[in-house]
Amino acid sequence: MTQLEAAKKGIITEQMKKVANDENKDEKYILSKIKEGKIVIPANINHKNLSPKGIGEGLTTKVNVNLGSSKDKEDFEFELKKLEIALKYGTDAVMDLSTGENLDELRKLIIEKSPVPVGTVPIYEAAILAVRKYGFIGKMSKQLLFETIEAHCEDGVDFITVHCGVTLNSIERIKKEGRITNVVSRGGSFLVEWMIYNNKENPLYEYFDELLKIAKKYDVTLSLGDGLRPGCLKDATDRGQIYELITLGELTQIAWDNGVQVMIEGPGHIPIDEIEMNIKLEKSLCHGAPFYVLGPVVTDIAPGYDHITAAIGGAIAAWHGADFLCYVTPAEHLRLPDIEDVKEGLIATKIAAHAGDIGKKIPGAIDKDILMAIARRNLDWKKQIELSLDPEKAKKYRESLLSKDEDACSMCGEFCAIKKVRDYFSSK
Ligand code: SF4
Repeated sequence: MTQLEAAKKGIITEQMKKVANDENKDEKYILSKIKEGKIVIPANINHKNLSPKGIGEGLTTKVNVNLGSSKDKEDFEFELKKLEIALKYGTDAVMDLSTGENLDELRKLIIEKSPVPVGTVPIYEAAILAVRKYGFIGKMSKQLLFETIEAHCEDGVDFITVHCGVTLNSIERIKKEGRITNVVSRGGSFLVEWMIYNNKENPLYEYFDELLKIAKKYDVTLSLGDGLRPGCLKDATDRGQIYELITLGELTQIAWDNGVQVMIEGPGHIPIDEIEMNIKLEKSLCHGAPFYVLGPVVTDIAPGYDHITAAIGGAIAAWHGADFLCYVTPAEHLRLPDIEDVKEGLIATKIAAHAGDIGKKIPGAIDKDILMAIARRNLDWKKQIELSLDPEKAKKYRESLLSKDEDACSMCGEFCAIKKVRDYFSSK
């Protein structure tokens, strides 16, 4: 029985209890929101060491770290080190986006070592297998695609990205309206190539019922992918993107009727003033299903700093109701991230999620900020470092240039404003 089927029967599962406890919520609240489709708990029955997480309405905003090799760098130790860093700094989920050679082996290792939910994009592997065998993605059979999906689910993957909304109709809309960056989703581009070559509908859309059977068997959450997300600000919120979203909304209801949990993936590159509208559109068209945004990146001109452009967008998105933020690293648009990029990207995304939670008025979200403010007022440096999202970096900065006045920091030294007025205010 899936989490959704259990919720429909009024059964509170162990996973629901864990989420309720972590989020300080009533178990009945979690059950009712899962039943409505507004909260998901991605928890594959085969992911044995999973510590489940809830994603959705009323819960803290979750963050995801992408891992994965490519043909240019295939190093399992390097990927597992990234996983270690992601877990150390508090990621809520990881996705294995590998496109290298030994995909099965790395995926199994990541699942085995990850206590947080693991996601994949099975079409990457199916496309690679097709290219290996036939030299061309267009030759990928529907059978190969669905067998690959089932293999990922059987291994214990908790959520899979499936670009079911990339249809012949939506591609036509993009073509007619015109875009600068056309299609920037890797999975989306594979499907476009396949559909144009075969002159056939997207098999993930056409055989959605078969996809649901596999997802239901292992209780895998479908992350309905935004294969037609805008790749630049100028392409944002166009007909292709919104047509895809409408399709995803329709598929969401079919999935729910079949007991399968669903999240919706969202853009991408969006101007800052269109973020709120995009969140509201998703919540309305997809009936409150959790929204998983990739960024959003709010300007296209900052390669090397895209963890910052995405954190700005992510904070605003979370504030307005996005439930799950995919991290973006400083290496975005440039290369495969290294270990330091993973850390920087994750911390930036956690800042965005936390800022969004304060805006969402999640109970208790601001508590740590209040403790930090008190520690600052008290010039309690040990406490300030302890409360930091990245204590090591805070400590390193503090110690790299100490003030002659030990209480203060070297920013203002003897003119420390906090120290100067502290005694005056505390005597009132
Ligand atoms: S020295 Fe300046 S920056 Fe440092 S704690 Fe005091 S007021 Fe703040």
